[in-house]
Amino acid sequence: MNEKTENELIRPSNWWDALPREGYGNLDRLDTGQEWYAVYRLDSRTRIIYEDGQFDENVSYLVEGDRQAVLIDTGDNLADIRNLVRGMTDLPVAVLNTHRHLDHIGGNYLFDDVWAYDHRVTREAAALGVGHEAASEVIQPGSFSKPVPQPFYENTYCIPPYRVTRWIADGERIDLGGRVLEAIHTPGHAPDHLMFMERETGYFWTGDNFYTGCVYTHLPWGNLDAFIETYEKKILPRVAEARLLLPSHNDPCSRLGVLEEMAALARLAGKGGGTYEAGEKGMRKYGGSCFSLVIGPQQAEK
Ligand SMILES: [Zn+2]
Repeated sequence: MNEKTENELIRPSNWWDALPREGYGNLDRLDTGQEWYAVYRLDSRTRIIYEDGQFDENVSYLVEGDRQAVLIDTGDNLADIRNLVRGMTDLPVAVLNTHRHLDHIGGNYLFDDVWAYDHRVTREAAALGVGHEAASEVIQPGSFSKPVPQPFYENTYCIPPYRVTRWIADGERIDLGGRVLEAIHTPGHAPDHLMFMERETGYFWTGDNFYTGCVYTHLPWGNLDAFIETYEKKILPRVAEARLLLPSHNDPCSRLGVLEEMAALARLAGKGGGTYEAGEKGMRKYGGSCFSLVIGPQQAEK
């Protein structure tokens, strides 16, 4: 058997060869006086904040209404995202998390207002943060394609605890003044996962349930059955409203058909069918047109 290690399976070496990503092709890049974040203008009140220098390629979004702005996710805490955002809006900014994995909550502690789905794993992450050893997975050698902002303390790097000030329910309408985002509870990748739909624009923030890369259901608390159910009951019924997918990694995607494709691939994987790359611990990686799906041992044995 020629099984790949988890890292070999989910994280290609020379990941930066995929850059620049096509989803940014038509967007204006803004000069924000710093090099770490690539900031793009999606429209006059929506900006994309992209960490293209680190293998997670985290994407955060600054969404401004008339009286409130939200920052969807805060990345890895490798640079001061609050400082960046403060230079882009005068409105009060609340963090709105897609879920509590460390690459989405890194800068949460810098903000007074953090909104998230109420789940015990979210409460745990908020109370404890992520310690140095676990957090170091995102700074291991080969993680960067450009210099990390200085000073950077790699021996003490961690994700600090933070305070959630508003728990967001499934179906809740988040009113920013003149703009409303609907929160959709979408477990599968993570049990506390939220996606957001803005009907007016057709922006569909997919978090980690879809991006143009390797999507995981094998992490602790990930669940392929929940992922399939989320696609069937929560995601596919909303495709007709969507115009643009705004994921938490890599790049925006206007090919809405990828959601149906992902749902079909997940169903196939759930039945143990199809072709896949085998990894350690029973992991399997299924390839799609511009993405892949990784499942873990329990799901693969179903
Ligand atoms: Zn993520």
